[in-house]
Amino acid sequence: MIYHVITTPECNLCCEYCCGKSFSEPESKLVFETVPTTPQYSQKELADFLKKDLDKPVSLIFYGGEPLLNIDFIKQTIDYQKQQNTVENFFLQTNGMLLDELPKEYVNSFHTILVSIDGNQKTTNTNRGLGTYEKIVSNLKKISSNDFNGELIARMTIEEPTNFFDDISFLLNNKDFSFSSIHWQLDANMWHDYKKRDFSNWIKQYNSDITRLVDYWLSEMRKGRVLRLYPFMGIMNSLLFKKNYFLRCGSGIGNFTILPNGKISACPIMSGVREYYLGDLNSDPKNLPFKLKIKEPCVSCEEYALCGGRCLYSNLNPVWPKKGINEICDSVKYLINELKRIEPEIQELLDKKIISKKDFDFLKYNCCEIIP
Ligand code: SF4
Ligand code: SF4
Repeated sequence: MIYHVITTPECNLCCEYCCGKSFSEPESKLVFETVPTTPQYSQKELADFLKKDLDKPVSLIFYGGEPLLNIDFIKQTIDYQKQQNTVENFFLQTNGMLLDELPKEYVNSFHTILVSIDGNQKTTNTNRGLGTYEKIVSNLKKISSNDFNGELIARMTIEEPTNFFDDISFLLNNKDFSFSSIHWQLDANMWHDYKKRDFSNWIKQYNSDITRLVDYWLSEMRKGRVLRLYPFMGIMNSLLFKKNYFLRCGSGIGNFTILPNGKISACPIMSGVREYYLGDLNSDPKNLPFKLKIKEPCVSCEEYALCGGRCLYSNLNPVWPKKGINEICDSVKYLINELKRIEPEIQELLDKKIISKKDFDFLKYNCCEIIP
């Protein structure tokens, strides 16, 4: 199993689609309780819980808020849990602003670091705040020169008016810092913001950018290079190797979130929502899965086996009107169909050994939700 560990719910940025929107969010139907700013449980309590997990190996993802606002807890957890041999892999999902404050030996102990960055300087700074792009790039250069050799994934959040193809092309190839692993997620159906937005028009442009990107992905494969574009890689892995999934982010199935109060929820966005708590650190991990399940319209959808329902939170708590939800689903189906279009040629490249099955491997539930 994989556990997100919320080191603090606090953040040092106020991104457009996160804290920026939370200020204008009308009263939600869900009741949120305040979560403590630092973990209230001991390392021993965490270790005792993890030891009960029979589904070894266990991985921990440090998450927030911004997890690096509680560096001491991260260091203590890595030191203690390594000593107790409870954790196989440590991950970090961060906005990257404080990466230079975590000592090198801890940075280099991460299997994967996901860094929030949305594209070029203008896009990233518009979404996340002036100077964020420059600081993130400087910190990434620093950890790379300090020999971090785990996977570094650019984690984009996208919405209108950004130009998705230009931004992802920039992240793949630029003079500041290029990535070969990228995941993106649409900011869609999370807030009561549909009426204020121009999503309907923008999603048409996004879909045509998906076609351009799929073609580019294939053209690189013809040269023997499989770019780790997680939404493409995850779905293509299923198409080629006939693997179906439940919900692809794994929330509430093999991926859970430990809150600072010791409660356990299905995913970080459910932090503080009592009705979505599945247990706590005294619970038996094997009793956590499948307490919350994807509902209609997903279970009767023709793409359920590949899509898995996209997002448990928005499936249980849809905040967009049906029109907007249909636009998201049409886009998911468009993406799946575009990948089905190139599947035969990818199979040929595999048969000719220009690329290999291994190129499509990834660690399941590594914070990349696969379906944008
Ligand atoms: S495409 Fe839409 S309806 Fe179908 S499974 Fe995915 S989220 Fe659910
Ligand atoms: S996609 Fe999964 S991890 Fe992401 S918000 Fe939805 S339920 Fe949570």
